[in-house]
Amino acid sequence: MSDKYEFLEKALDKREKNHQFRSLRPITPRGHKNEVTSKGKTYVNFSSNDYLGLATHPQVIQQSQNYLQKYGAGAKASRLVTGTLAIHAQLEQQMAAAFNKEAALIFNSGFQANSSILGTITDRHSLILADKLSHSSLLQGALAGRADFQRFDHNDLHHLEELLQKARQKNFNRIWIVTETVFSMDGDRSPLNEIAELAKAYNALLFVDDAHAVGVWGQNGLGLAKEIDGVDILLGTCGKAFGSFGAYVACSKKMKEYLINFCPGFIYTTALPPAVIGATAAALELIPTLKQERNVFHRRIKEFRQSLQQLGFNTGPSSTQIIPVIIGDEKRTLELAGYLKKQGILATPIRPPTVPRESSRIRITLSASHSDEDIEKLLTSLKNFNHE
Ligand SMILES: *Cc1c(COP(=O)(O)O)cnc(C)c1O
Repeated sequence: MSDKYEFLEKALDKREKNHQFRSLRPITPRGHKNEVTSKGKTYVNFSSNDYLGLATHPQVIQQSQNYLQKYGAGAKASRLVTGTLAIHAQLEQQMAAAFNKEAALIFNSGFQANSSILGTITDRHSLILADKLSHSSLLQGALAGRADFQRFDHNDLHHLEELLQKARQKNFNRIWIVTETVFSMDGDRSPLNEIAELAKAYNALLFVDDAHAVGVWGQNGLGLAKEIDGVDILLGTCGKAFGSFGAYVACSKKMKEYLINFCPGFIYTTALPPAVIGATAAALELIPTLKQERNVFHRRIKEFRQSLQQLGFNTGPSSTQIIPVIIGDEKRTLELAGYLKKQGILATPIRPPTVPRESSRIRITLSASHSDEDIEKLLTSLKNFNHE
């Protein structure tokens, strides 16, 4: 037998050669702005998902501290054992009300929820139809289960309907349509109304991941999925605009009971700790009150996108706070990221396999907490790179 560790070097070398090698770069947040330091240098962070700046909001920190003091550092058990504290149950009630559903269930992370729910709500007689650009966690979930799994072209209603029609010839016990509201790599939105209509017409169930919309878009900033009739599982995450951690599913009472009874990603894990529940509860209370901030934020997103386009950058189909600067070539993308870093800007390059080939990009995420100066600085740097 050859060297049993050879696979490590082989795979990593290949990544390196393709300019796809990934590594971790520790940073230290500074104060309550978007500033971070790394190796003694200061940067403005344009890659965080803290879309409203709530991770450092005084009320969020305060309630997190309160719960920590009162209830301790850990939940001490899984939810079904003794890990369901009154604060978990209370937050779930508040979430259900906020998202217009009968019930809500907290999960430890969006990844954990997505990668375990799809296998739980389907069996080998079921069909999952997921948007091609769905988040990796959803793909993991679909592949982990035993259902037939097909992907429809991104946001393509015709393709989705074609697959639904074909499915009629088979005897699936149920069909789940899976999509997102705002897509994480392109920052575009799905035609959710039309997808919900298709689900209804073909008697399919609908699973919607609202991770990047909640907090930023929709009525009271509570996302784009809650306004749509017929969403059977509305999933959101608390690690983004909530500034906290964890995820939730808003659904019917029956669906919640089913997940509590059958979903391994919910059952076999320790409940979220009190400090996290406190932060999330405070954020949920704050989000609907930040109307003014959101209005300013929406305007700024639009202006920033337009400025980029005027500079000749390709921002793809983005219509949200996630704005890809699509460069195409991996090496050139890394050069741009390096250049921005020199200018004191953190903007993460995203390369295949996370995005399709030839679509390497700098993924910029704007936050309502960025200052005008922050944005000016980013625009100037991008402009100068273009002229290099
Ligand atoms: C971030 C994200 C997740 C994962 O959520 P975590 O709570 O960070 O694990 C799931 N789905 C989408 C669309 C996401 O963007």
